[in-house]
Parts: sequence; structure tokens; C-alpha cells
Amino acid sequence: MFVIFFFLFILGLIVGSFLNVVSLRYSPEKGLFNFHNLSGRSRCLHCGKTLRWHELIPVFSFLIQKGQCRSCGAKLNWQYPLVELASGFVFLLPFYLFGHFTFHFSLFTSVVWISVFLIFLLIWTIDYRLYLIPDGLNIGLGIIGIFWILFSGVYGSDSAFLPPGLSRFGEFQGSFFGSYAGLFGLRQNIWINHFAAALIGISIVGLVILLTKGKGMGMGDLKLLAALGLLYGWPDVLFIFIIGTTVGASASVALMLGSARRWGMKSQIPFGPFLTLAAVLAFFFGEQILRGYFNFFGI
Ligand SMILES: [Zn+2]
Repeated sequence: MFVIFFFLFILGLIVGSFLNVVSLRYSPEKGLFNFHNLSGRSRCLHCGKTLRWHELIPVFSFLIQKGQCRSCGAKLNWQYPLVELASGFVFLLPFYLFGHFTFHFSLFTSVVWISVFLIFLLIWTIDYRLYLIPDGLNIGLGIIGIFWILFSGVYGSDSAFLPPGLSRFGEFQGSFFGSYAGLFGLRQNIWINHFAAALIGISIVGLVILLTKGKGMGMGDLKLLAALGLLYGWPDVLFIFIIGTTVGASASVALMLGSARRWGMKSQIPFGPFLTLAAVLAFFFGEQILRGYFNFFGI
């Protein structure tokens, strides 16, 4: 048990280290998984020195070197240890979902949601740095969404009839809002539900783009919400939009008030990180948040 736990976490750290390379070497011209671009030894971005093996150990190298390049002393990007750690925790998802790792069912659900969260990590870091979301990541999420529609088998099912590992999803009947999802309708068929969610996502973001003349959100956000619609379904996608834009807009206002001069033109913030953050919140706390909301208004 502990060995698997440890092994998955280490695997996560290593994958996170790879995600950093993909994320930081990405440019719209070169694309995401360009072999030429990704191969080649890692170098210090400041002095160009090729890094030795002991400078490439996830998290530990950063800590031992106190966040500095060993040759030139340049500050290393905080993204390195943060993404590595986050990826390490993402790989522990099976333990959170199932309490233990049983091969028969857990594998599909684990692979789906680990992949989703790793894509979120890439969206966070790339959208933060370049203010764009690579199409490949949105398409990847959409494809995973269709796999989830096809094979999760949790839609509308009663948790009492599901194997232990599935019961957490069974309680939600295919929505992270559980019984609350019924209030929003469209629950007869999973295909109709999830494709409607994608269309609704496209419509809302399309409307925002039209109303703000493209200054608020962009096409990357529109495609992202379509993909999240396919994956999460209705009404989860509405929750993701509302929470994501509320937090994103608040952060944007805070930035403009707090440090408008220092940020200058960059006071505009990317919405991708906030939409995916809302998607993570929906996954872990969707039902609790909605219950709190309804209780607050006494419904
Ligand atoms: Zn250096």
C-alpha cells in the first residue's frame, strides 16, 4: 500500500517535471509536443549552462539550490517545484477517490481524471505566461470527455447497485452536484446532457466575447468551456463558468486597483486558469458548495 502510494507520488513528480518542459518550451509556432523542441538537455534559461543530472531532480534540486542556478545564481522559476508537487498529488487521486487502488474499476476513472488534471496544469501555466490556451489541450479535454460519456457508466445510476469504487460517482448520478443536478433538467440522456452543456458553454462565452468586444474572454476560453461541457455535463458547466468568471474578474479588479502602474497593460488577466480552477472545485466540492449556497438563501 505505502509502496504504491510512494511510487505514484514519485511518478507524479517526474511527470510534473516533463510538464514543466512542455509548458515552458511551448510557443504557438512550435506547438505542444514537438519532438525537436522537447528533446535536448535542459539548460539554465539565464546563462545557458547545460544542467547536470543532480540539478534535474524534481523539487529537491530546487530546494537544495535555494531556487537559484548553481552556475550563475539566477532565480529559478517557481513554476518548477509547484507544478512538480501538484502533479505528484494528482497521481494520488486514486487514493482520494477509492481509498485504495483496486485494478478492475479504478484504473479507467483514475486515468481519465489524472489526465484531466495534468491538462489543467498545462493550461494554468501556459495561459498564465502567454495569455492563450493551445488548441491541442482543449481538444484533448474534449476527447477525454467523450470517453467519459461512453465508458463511465455512472449516469443516472443508483449508487446502491454500483461496485464500491464507483459509488462516489454513483451518488452524483453523473453530476458533481448530486441530487441538486435534477433541478436543472436535461437528465434523460447523457449524450444530450453533455452535448447541450458544450453548446451552452459556447453560447455563454460567445455572448461575453460579443458584449466585451473580445476584451474579457477569448476563443481559447470558448473552446475550453465547450470541452469542459463535454466532460462535466450540465449543469456543472454553468457552475464552472460562474465560479471561474467571478473569481477571475475579482482577481482582475484587485490587480488593477492594487498595482495598476506596475502591471501596466498586463492588468488584464487570463481566464483559463480560473475556469480550470473552478472545474477542480466542482470535482471535489461541487455538491458542498451548492448545498451551502442554497442553505444561505434558505431554499
Ligand atoms: Zn544559470
